[in-house]
Amino acid sequence: MRILVIEDEKDIAAAIEKVLKRDGYAVDLAANGSSALELIDINEYDLVILDLMLPDISGFEVLEKLRKNSQDTRVIIVSANHTTGDRVKGLDLGANDYVVKPFDFDELRARIRALLRRDFTSKLNVMVESGFEIDLSSKRVTYSSKELILTLKEFSIFSHLVQNKGKYINAEELYRHVWNEESNPFTEVMRVHIYSLRKKINEITGKNNVISTTKGLGYIFKGE
Ligand code: CA
Repeated sequence: MRILVIEDEKDIAAAIEKVLKRDGYAVDLAANGSSALELIDINEYDLVILDLMLPDISGFEVLEKLRKNSQDTRVIIVSANHTTGDRVKGLDLGANDYVVKPFDFDELRARIRALLRRDFTSKLNVMVESGFEIDLSSKRVTYSSKELILTLKEFSIFSHLVQNKGKYINAEELYRHVWNEESNPFTEVMRVHIYSLRKKINEITGKNNVISTTKGLGYIFKGE
């Protein structure tokens, strides 16, 4: 799950980022409208948290442009503007929710969960693949009815590989999906997560080639 936080107040942006990362989301930050639009152009976001008062263009304008290209991305406006007019305008332009600043983090988290759930129920909730059942909303994996207990990062890696079955995914791409843009693909961290993931999968399935690695190409889930 990838979230873009568009917020020019550094402290608020950092606080939101911290909380969301702790919940297991990959988070990107944009401090103004134009860099937000650039990121939206390059990446696919499941959800956008949008401040209205930005230093360059307004959040409303960002929302309008976002909606021209994407109907699926959930948008929560987080703004100090609490007038009914702004709220109505935001919702009319296609925002899915509106939170007034100052807000409670637990409330914001709950609203994010609710929106992402709604998104998933309209799509596919559970992926069934090669004996695995992967529940994208509860982030649980079972294999022949036995639960495969994964960390959030392992879950993100595994579900991304399964969604791209038969395709090599390099560490850099995994980083982009699981962590966030600035992560360094050359660190050992990814290898450690993959090692642990493969070990757990091996224990539950008795197979050691569920995720294979080819040097220079990356990681692959071939399926059965
Ligand atoms: Ca602002």
